[in-house]
Amino acid sequence: MNDYYEILGVPRDASTDQIKKAYRKLARELHPDVAGAEAEDRFKDVSRAYEVLSNPDKRQQYDRGVDPTAPGGGMGGSGGFGFQDIFETFFGGGQAQQGPVPRSRRGQDALVRLDVDLEEAVFGAKRELQVDTAVVCRTCGGTCCRPGTTMHTCEVCKGRGVVQRVQRSFLGQIMTTAPCAACQGFGTVIPEPCVDCGGEGRVRERRTIAVNVPAGVETGTRIRLTAQGEVGPGGGPAGDLYVEIRERPHETFVRRGDDLHCTLEVPMTAAALGAGMTLDTFDGEQEIELRPGTQPAQVVTLRGLGVGHLNGSGRGDLQVHVEVQVPTTLDDEQAELLRSLAKLRGEEHPEPRLSAAHPGVFSRLRDKLSGR
Ligand SMILES: [Zn+2]
Ligand SMILES: [Zn+2]
Repeated sequence: MNDYYEILGVPRDASTDQIKKAYRKLARELHPDVAGAEAEDRFKDVSRAYEVLSNPDKRQQYDRGVDPTAPGGGMGGSGGFGFQDIFETFFGGGQAQQGPVPRSRRGQDALVRLDVDLEEAVFGAKRELQVDTAVVCRTCGGTCCRPGTTMHTCEVCKGRGVVQRVQRSFLGQIMTTAPCAACQGFGTVIPEPCVDCGGEGRVRERRTIAVNVPAGVETGTRIRLTAQGEVGPGGGPAGDLYVEIRERPHETFVRRGDDLHCTLEVPMTAAALGAGMTLDTFDGEQEIELRPGTQPAQVVTLRGLGVGHLNGSGRGDLQVHVEVQVPTTLDDEQAELLRSLAKLRGEEHPEPRLSAAHPGVFSRLRDKLSGR
């Protein structure tokens, strides 16, 4: 723990007046505008010591062995003002500006949304995208000056961007630096601004860019295009452009992770007898073979026909969920045939046979309730 009495150079039984005097003296000597940046750490120590010892509550706490300025400990500014407050009240907002502000600064990142079809998410796609961002002004090339003219060094601050000011405070006279009003702190002035960009060095423009959409993107995926965002003030380097993906739902295939799911309606007779079927998939027509005795909710997996993995190679699977269709209407002949079948199989008067519900029933129920 810092010895705040030692830092201020006062005895442990010093009066509030003694503490205030000692602080004023040290603050005058150590202020960064007077003593330079090397003294800044000592100046902060002195200010912190004063913050604690000038406040009766904090001083009492400190005398008991608890540092009230330590994070988590302390009384959080109850009564008196905090260290930051002292610093900012008397010395004007923390870090003083040291030199000219660069006229040219990096631009902001931009965000655009891109709707993609499920098929594009499966295989990846090349897309073109209209974006509206700031670009470098072609007339002045980002210099902000009318062609044929140039920037001048500011005569008020001699290019330093800051001016010195003498301020009076209870600590006496203090030299402070402030941004130069004549050049807004840039250190340079533009005698004749470029008319096309108004001296900004950049203009807004709508342009078309190509985007490589990789396989595996989904809603919320952001693709970063380096330096395709907003050009900065003064023709500064462009920020990045983020393309946020929104996946359009497909009417047949539903995506879960990198797997695709669909439902295949199979007539009761085909499920019982078995059948070959041709499915229309993103990879063209695929033959599948339903075995005799195919059950409701059975899943046929077509390996590697799902969505391409975003990070790495390979693809998910296509899961085909079988839904056995029981006829809702039968004509006389069909009913007669089924009755004969039932008789042959000894199923005319089926015995009720109860068994525990299959776990799958619950997940299907849940999906139905959550509307998936
Ligand atoms: Zn211009
Ligand atoms: Zn200036």
